[in-house]
Amino acid sequence: MNPQGVNVICRKCKRSAPAEQFVMSLDDKIMVCPLCILDSRKSNSKMTNSSHKTTVVSPVKGTAVKKSADWDADDDYLERMNKQKLAVPKVEFIRIDAFNVKYTCPKCKYVFVYNEDKNHPKHCPFCTRLVSLKS
Ligand SMILES: [Zn+2]
Ligand SMILES: [Zn+2]
Repeated sequence: MNPQGVNVICRKCKRSAPAEQFVMSLDDKIMVCPLCILDSRKSNSKMTNSSHKTTVVSPVKGTAVKKSADWDADDDYLERMNKQKLAVPKVEFIRIDAFNVKYTCPKCKYVFVYNEDKNHPKHCPFCTRLVSLKS
């Protein structure tokens, strides 16, 4: 007649256990005996362990990737600067007569008449770059 110490048949495993030891199972949504709780905990811990392994993320890589990205940007910038320096500007000129050419400055694109016979002007009037018909 005392409610405590009364054995109840577990609805899940059909074993009998003291009523006060029954616990609500989150998986089954019913009151189950302590043995069922132990069983579900064992299987749950196995599941979480295995799922942990698949979702392991290494936080170390983040900084390395960022650093290499910065390096790439620097390399790209330097490469472009080098190309600008090393690129031989193409000299454009149109011959007007035996001595004069219509010369386009390869640096500033200023167009002026250059006298090849007198070698005048020696420099671009706009940017003072040395005039040369050879590229
Ligand atoms: Zn049970
Ligand atoms: Zn010029």
